[in-house]
Amino acid sequence: MSVVYLDNNATTQPDPQVLEAMAPFLRERWGNPSSMHAFGGNVRRHVEQAREQVAALLGADPSEIVFTSGGTESDNAAIRGLTEAVPAVRTVITSRVEHPAVLEPCRHLKEKGYTEIELGVDEEGRLREEELGAALKSAPVFVSLMWANNETGVLFPIPRLAPRLKAAGAFFHTDAVQAAGKVPVDVSRVPVDFLTLSGHKLHAPKGIGALYIRRGTPFAPLILGGHQERNRRSGTENVPGIVALGKACELARLRMEEDSRRMAALRDRLEQGILASCPDSRRNGDSVERLPNTTNISFHYIEGEAILYHLSDLQICASSGSACSSGSLEPSHVLRAMGVPFTAVHGSIRLSLSRFTTEADIEAILRELPRIVAKLRALSPFVPRPAAKGG
Ligand code: PLP
Repeated sequence: MSVVYLDNNATTQPDPQVLEAMAPFLRERWGNPSSMHAFGGNVRRHVEQAREQVAALLGADPSEIVFTSGGTESDNAAIRGLTEAVPAVRTVITSRVEHPAVLEPCRHLKEKGYTEIELGVDEEGRLREEELGAALKSAPVFVSLMWANNETGVLFPIPRLAPRLKAAGAFFHTDAVQAAGKVPVDVSRVPVDFLTLSGHKLHAPKGIGALYIRRGTPFAPLILGGHQERNRRSGTENVPGIVALGKACELARLRMEEDSRRMAALRDRLEQGILASCPDSRRNGDSVERLPNTTNISFHYIEGEAILYHLSDLQICASSGSACSSGSLEPSHVLRAMGVPFTAVHGSIRLSLSRFTTEADIEAILRELPRIVAKLRALSPFVPRPAAKGG
């Protein structure tokens, strides 16, 4: 039975064109790009070509792109790299709904004596911008806010916030792991200082990512060693991964408009179909300012994990939110920050599409889900039932 994969915010299928581009650098051209000899040295220009491809997706200059091992490293490198380089920054501002790759390093700084401020969101997952004004008073500050939320797909207004933060003298990092390749992300128009990208969220393999660092931004490298990446990230380059990320970014740039339109149409059909066929269900998150590929739906009175197990038995892959916290039965910190009602917060699932999602995938889940939900509800002690008539 083939797998119906609707968990693309956790990871994506490597694109066959990406695999084709990277394969020679595993098979024949495995030299070290820093070598003096031509066998290794000739690989260098492919690394630089990939840097240009990543830069083109982001509207950056290639010299501003640093290859890393992925989103988690890029987030950590930005947060720790800026605060180490600018000791005058003693305040970090983030939001309550960030990925742990941002929240944990920010909380770590708090333990080390920094003031850490986590901005709230409203019931639709939108940033409470009014909280930013007071937080910015302690300039210079470091701000890290995600471009798109991995659990709900809700977009923060980064293009509007970035000039405001710049004017306030803040250093600004955005985690664009879920946004890049799905919505336009252009640092030539949006004045962020740092931006995080992860390969495996946009059809490259795991273990490769990038950090955009605007030219002139203070930065102390997280990883010291052999001075690769112009001293900003040491370690022998992951050439196959870098070539793959370059190709994935090129494909994302060329296909984004069409892929996003198609995904949004399928996602809307999926979402409307589920809400119509499953009573006591609700969408979590803003319906307008969001990624084209994501929907997060709660089913009152039942456990999201139980739904996922039943779907998994049918080879349908979905998620209960952040891949990192799956396995724990703690309700999502994102949905809790949004104030999703108690009876719904445990019963949420996230469905996330990609360019490889088909209409048949959508039909499969629309066929199976109402039955699974009804079955679980029949067994749930939490469903309010009419009181039995006394005799
Ligand atoms: N940031 C966001 C918003 C994410 O969704 C993820 C992964 O789920 C990460 C960071 C971490 O990226 P990586 O898995 O490449 O370390």
